[in-house]
Amino acid sequence: MFCINCFHKSTSVSNSRPHKKQPQIWRRRTCANCHAVFTTYERPSLADNTPIDLADGSTDTFNLGRLILSISKAFTHSPNDAQYSSLWLAQTVEDTLSTDRKSISPEDIEATTHQVLKKFDELAAVQYAAQHKLISSTRKRGRPSLREHGPRSRE
Ligand SMILES: [Zn+2]
Repeated sequence: MFCINCFHKSTSVSNSRPHKKQPQIWRRRTCANCHAVFTTYERPSLADNTPIDLADGSTDTFNLGRLILSISKAFTHSPNDAQYSSLWLAQTVEDTLSTDRKSISPEDIEATTHQVLKKFDELAAVQYAAQHKLISSTRKRGRPSLREHGPRSRE
C-alpha cells in the first residue's frame, strides 16, 4: 500500500492485531520514505464476494454507502447517532451478511439491518421497519412513540 502522506510506493507493516469480536485485522504501517505511520483495517467485503439477487432476476452489488444512508434515516430522533453510529452499524450488517452464502436478497439486507438496529436502539428499529415497510401485521396508523425525544417531522 502506498503512503498516505508522501505517496511513496511502499509501506511496511510494523504491527498487526486481529480484532477480538469482529472479523477485522488492525495494522500499523510505516512509510519507507517519510516514516509516516498510519493505521489500516482489513475486513470482509460483501460487495466483492456476494451478489444481490433482485426481484427482476438481475443482480446488484452491495453498496455500503447506500446502507449507511438508509440507517441514518432511521435516526431522525437522534442526529448524533445518525452521524456517529450509522457507519459502524452498517459495517456490522455487512459483517453479519459476509458469510459463505452464494447470494443475498434485498430482503436479507433489510432483515439483518432491522435486527442490528433492534439491539442498538429500539426506536431506530421501529423507524427503519416503517420506512422499509417491514411491519405488515400492525396496520395501525400513527407514528411510533417518541418518549423523551420530541416528535420530529418525517421527510
Ligand atoms: Zn511517506
